[in-house]
Amino acid sequence: MAVPKKKTSQSRRNMRRSHHALTPVNVQECPNCGSPKLSHHVCTSCGHYKGRQVLKLRTAVVETEE
Ligand SMILES: [Zn+2]
Repeated sequence: MAVPKKKTSQSRRNMRRSHHALTPVNVQECPNCGSPKLSHHVCTSCGHYKGRQVLKLRTAVVETEE
């Protein structure tokens, strides 16, 4: 088994971990229904994207079938 010859210093360890930070998700308000949604994604609650309906939601389908 490969074993490190020297202990990794606090500085080296912290430099390695400088890339580990997570970026916060970009949450924006849906212009159609106002619920929070991810930018550049279809709204999961109303199925709109760029001002038009792109997803048939299960609740909407049930309403049209009846
Ligand atoms: Zn929406």
